[in-house]
Amino acid sequence: MEVEEGVQEVGRDLAARLPRSRNPVRALDDRAMELSSQDAELRAALFRFVDVTPACRSLDDLARHLSSYLEGVEEKPPPLRAAMRMAESRAGRTALGAAAAAGVRHMAHRFIVGTTPEAAAGDLRSMWKDGIAASLDLLGEATVTQEEADRYAERCAHALDALAKTTAGLPERELLENDSLGPLPRANLSVKVSALTPMMRSEAPELGRDDAARRLRPLLRQARDLGAHLHVDMESVDSLETTFELVFDLLSEEEFRDGPSAGVVLQAYLRDSPAHLDRLLEWAQPAERRPPPVVRLVKGAYWDHEVVEARQHGWSPPVYTDKHECDRNFEALTRRLLDARPHVRVAIASHNLRSVAHAIAYNRATGGEDRDLELQVLRGLGDDLARALAATGMRVRAYCPVGELVAGMAYLVRRLLENTSNESFLHEQSRGVPIDELLVAP
Ligand SMILES: Cc1cc2nc3c(=O)[nH]c(=O)nc-3n(C[C@H](O)[C@H](O)[C@H](O)COP(=O)(O)OP(=O)(O)OC[C@H]3O[C@@H](n4cnc5c(N)ncnc54)[C@H](O)[C@@H]3O)c2cc1C
Repeated sequence: MEVEEGVQEVGRDLAARLPRSRNPVRALDDRAMELSSQDAELRAALFRFVDVTPACRSLDDLARHLSSYLEGVEEKPPPLRAAMRMAESRAGRTALGAAAAAGVRHMAHRFIVGTTPEAAAGDLRSMWKDGIAASLDLLGEATVTQEEADRYAERCAHALDALAKTTAGLPERELLENDSLGPLPRANLSVKVSALTPMMRSEAPELGRDDAARRLRPLLRQARDLGAHLHVDMESVDSLETTFELVFDLLSEEEFRDGPSAGVVLQAYLRDSPAHLDRLLEWAQPAERRPPPVVRLVKGAYWDHEVVEARQHGWSPPVYTDKHECDRNFEALTRRLLDARPHVRVAIASHNLRSVAHAIAYNRATGGEDRDLELQVLRGLGDDLARALAATGMRVRAYCPVGELVAGMAYLVRRLLENTSNESFLHEQSRGVPIDELLVAP
């Protein structure tokens, strides 16, 4: 079957399995999200507010911040005018502050599975029962001191132990535990290099690389001994060189030749990503590590940051500025990655039905087995898609952040930015764009 025909078939099948009554974006935080995606000023005001929430000392303080940010929004829709009126009296501010705090907490809990790995255990078990594996992510990014980096590494070590305990008691799930290359670890942890070192400098990547290596090496040993998977996330482009060098160097060390299972991330929104994939494959092919590295393909979570940063310096952005180009590149990289097996294991991370259906259809059209492709979603955003994928017999993994609300703010703001953007697939889906249009080739 032609790939394009397969995309339409898989996409329709998945769409038919998604619940109609609930749509992922409105579910985020209904009215606020909807309003903020219509108005750029309001969007900026709400993000500033979400950012400042953890620092507010009282409900009164919270309400004052909210109303001062909203002050700057020129055309206020009726719910905002009502909020501004409430902020005029002390009692009103307390009520407004309480409602706003509850709103932010509610939003955060959709994305964050628990404050600790132990607290997340129940959710992880029930996801596994539903056919969904997990990768845990410890919230708290960009450390500034060596002590903070040590503390993050300790939390990672603790999370690996906790994950090993939780996953040891899970029932067998063939699809989540094996592909045609062999066993897949049950315990899976994602880590961030910016949290493993305070010394990330784009002009001197070796500083961050060496400092982070001191903390990543013991974690790799621990993961190998526990039979766990360690995945190194990708962040903004100024940390890309450090991250690639760190992963390539450490995993090439003799002691890690036969494990642990480990992985990296490729960001399709970067114009240079085809060259990044060349480099990745040049490293992975001759290394013949067993097990091969897992490459998680994403579009990239720092789009606004990269564009603003480049403009401030008068540079041209390192990211595509046309969403279709980014989506086309995502599909091209998907095909190249699937063709590169068995030197890599492939994980396609997206909530976009078209991008996901394309990966499944291409794999089938080229004779690949479903179990040799993993799909990944973010907890809170891709829950319905994850269930639909699991129901069709695909392996799916949800990325599950763990930690305190305060540490999770940067993460939360990124998710809000993504999903209130008019270019977001989830936003289009929530507006009721017909499935035919959603599945059109980019
Ligand atoms: C399991 C998992 C792990 C992830 N890990 C990482 C990670 O380590 N590092 C990381 O950076 N991201 C990571 N992400 C986030 C990911 O990069 C995307 O931000 C997110 O998945 C949204 O993309 P989409 O395909 O789901 O949705 P879509 O709506 O199809 O795409 C949205 C994305 O398109 C891109 N985009 C938006 N506007 C434009 C434009 N005008 N021009 C060009 N491109 C545009 C942006 O990347 C935006 O996030 C992860 C996502 C998942 C599901």
